[in-house]
Amino acid sequence: MSNFINVVLPIPLQKLFTYSVTEAEAEFLKPGMRVAVEFGKSKVYTALVYEIHQNPPIAYEAKDIHQILDDKPVVNELQLKHWEWLSNYYMCSLGEVFRAALPSAFLLESESIIQLVLGEKDETELTDDEFLIYEALQHQPELTVNKVVEILGKKTVFPVLKQLIEKEIIVIKEQIYEQYKPKLVKYVRLNASFDNETKLPELLEELSRAKKQRDAVLTYFQLKAQKKPIKATDLIEKANVSTAVIKSLVDKEIFEFYYIQTDRVDFNVKKSVIKKLTEYQNTAYSEIKSSFENKHVTLLKGITSSGKTEIYAKLIQEALEKGKQVLYLLPEIALTTQIIQRLQLYFGEYLSVYHSKYTVNERVEVWNNTLHNKKKARLILGARSSLFLPFSNLDLIIVDEEHEPSYKQYNPSPRYHARDASIVLAGFHKAKVLLGSATPSIETSYNAKQNKYGYVELNRRFNNVLLPEIELVNIKEKYRKKRMKGHFSDRLIKMIEETLEEKEQVILFQNRRGYSPVVECETCGVSPQCPNCDVSLTYHNYKKELQCHYCGHKQAMLHNCGACGSPTLNTKGFGTEQIEEELEHLFPEANIGRMDLDTTRGKYGYQKIIGKFQAQEIDILVGTQMLSKGLDFSNVTLVGVMNADNMLNFPDFRAYERSYQLMVQVAGRAGRVKKRGRVAIQTFNPYHQILQQVSTNNYEAMFKEQLDERWQYKYPPFYRLIKLTLRHKDFNRVETAANWLGKSMTNSFKQNVLGPTTPSISKIRNYYIRTIILKIPQENSLGKTKNHLKKILNSFQAITDFRSVKVGVDVDNY
Ligand code: ADP
Ligand code: ZN
Ligand code: ZN
Repeated sequence: MSNFINVVLPIPLQKLFTYSVTEAEAEFLKPGMRVAVEFGKSKVYTALVYEIHQNPPIAYEAKDIHQILDDKPVVNELQLKHWEWLSNYYMCSLGEVFRAALPSAFLLESESIIQLVLGEKDETELTDDEFLIYEALQHQPELTVNKVVEILGKKTVFPVLKQLIEKEIIVIKEQIYEQYKPKLVKYVRLNASFDNETKLPELLEELSRAKKQRDAVLTYFQLKAQKKPIKATDLIEKANVSTAVIKSLVDKEIFEFYYIQTDRVDFNVKKSVIKKLTEYQNTAYSEIKSSFENKHVTLLKGITSSGKTEIYAKLIQEALEKGKQVLYLLPEIALTTQIIQRLQLYFGEYLSVYHSKYTVNERVEVWNNTLHNKKKARLILGARSSLFLPFSNLDLIIVDEEHEPSYKQYNPSPRYHARDASIVLAGFHKAKVLLGSATPSIETSYNAKQNKYGYVELNRRFNNVLLPEIELVNIKEKYRKKRMKGHFSDRLIKMIEETLEEKEQVILFQNRRGYSPVVECETCGVSPQCPNCDVSLTYHNYKKELQCHYCGHKQAMLHNCGACGSPTLNTKGFGTEQIEEELEHLFPEANIGRMDLDTTRGKYGYQKIIGKFQAQEIDILVGTQMLSKGLDFSNVTLVGVMNADNMLNFPDFRAYERSYQLMVQVAGRAGRVKKRGRVAIQTFNPYHQILQQVSTNNYEAMFKEQLDERWQYKYPPFYRLIKLTLRHKDFNRVETAANWLGKSMTNSFKQNVLGPTTPSISKIRNYYIRTIILKIPQENSLGKTKNHLKKILNSFQAITDFRSVKVGVDVDNY
């Protein structure tokens, strides 16, 4: 009797592939172990064993496997079940899920590129084969796995590489990911010219009239005796002075600030017990508990700063006490370091953080700790990809800011929604899910109203601080009456002045980066376009550059119009850069900071800005939607929205819902702990229903109105959507292909097919784009519809002319 295994290959292949194994191998192998196999023209992949059986494949001769890579499964059965669901629901292959799920270090293949890890290595620890690779990497910075095959003169190189990865001698290069930006801590030191005990009297003399500053310097010398770097926060605490005192010493060039990277998880942090819940929080907590008794999912709608995180903490504690695992999902890890810090204080020894920006080794470590249900991976804090970890004992999943669109993966496939996929995952584990938000998505609220999810409300801020007062500023009027300076109304200017006078801080929100999104010739009306995409180039004043925000194309700013040659190029519209520039003129005394993709890209850029703002070295922070995400600054009392209209005019059925969420969330950054904050929203259309709803904090009205619209125009939650995106470099080909596909879909699905349409950006990176949307009414079977659509797609791909057209399938598209 021959033995076979079916494996999942990390490629978009619809079927599992069968390989032949020996009887001993069949005995040894279990589903969830990795094997190295050859596929296609002598390419080697890491594949995952799915099942072991005795049935030879019919259509082809089964090849032998190269080797077995694990002695125990690295993927468990619940995961395989979840992946299967993901692949069915989101219409992709199991292989694509496999590829997305495993850290790339687990997925060696012929094309993988390996690199040396920097640092001291003990060469005597290496086997001969390992040494050969190590040696080769001394002479060239990187090697492909294929090259390693040549060097070792044998095909079975994966086990050797695996050893080297485990010994942390090599890593697999990842082009797609940037490295995780570690958390930075601010330290203080004396300027080099004073850093000498003999200079102390001189220094104290100089500061004789600034008592506080003197105290700070004296305390500094006391702390210095401990021969450890001195944290700015420690100095402030020990010397009992304010941040401003230290800051003036920095201004006098006596002190200087510097930053040191701390470990991603600092287990030495002072542990603290979770906070005692307030009466209102306690009620919400009890309601959640009783809701969990008969509902597997519960929505906690708690206004901004009501202390949702503290309630999560209590639930987490209970799960951990039972020895169970907890997954805490966050929309964007890099933007939520504050939450990580808070939870670290409570659960340091249980906590691991997981997301794609961590290095390969870090991710492998968390994976293995989860797989073995280790204590330090009982509470996983992660972005959407942490859903794929090998949990075996989940008790609770928290989806924080459940309304955030970044929970949906766009590219590559699987295009899953982490909130929805986590609900299914919890089902397999018989775990509970808590969805939290101040501005829940329409879909989630609807599910709660339908009694599908439990529902709990928390309508009071901690400390009973009132929600900020929101003022709509009619800038149409202001322009007419000439009361605008640049993009600032006299009202907003006044409010900023008042805030600065109180030594409080301001956040200004403008949802566009760069200086201006369009440059236009006043003579002929032509705008410079991206050569690769169908968009206007954005002007970046700082670099005097035109940039495409879709493909990254950059060119120097033109002096003359490319079309007519006139020197009459002018900017239209505005982004964060322009606001920053205007602020510098309007408030020359204030320190101004900017937080957008351009200023946070550099190493540690994001942490630095947040750190500076927190330390009150920045008075006014201008930024994009990054600002709306879970930040908690205690001294911000004014939030300004520069222009609400472009959000509202975005061509998408969710635009109103999103504008509402974005504005309420940004507004929620004002006046969080001490006193009531103020918000000014500048708009040409203050009577717009969404702005009225934002200013009266009327979520219910927004919900009801949007739900009616969704019903009327056949959108979720009443209809499900599947969006197909067709792309090709040849305009005619994509056009013909889209027409063919649109027609066959219409034959089957009639009026529920929209398109093909040309999206508002019809070409990106030289690929022409067409989209088709399929709307699926609730009463139709989703499974049957998808199967039918799959058949149509198969016939489509069978047409030779269309084979090169890329088709992306996005279920529940965002
Ligand atoms: P949310 O997540 O709902 O926006 P947070 O959990 O961030 O609110 O709470 C807002 C602020 O109030 C935080 O600084 C938090 O530490 C504080 N806070 C909330 N609840 C309590 C409590 N029960 N005891 C002490 N401080 C609390
Ligand atoms: Zn011109
Ligand atoms: Zn472009």
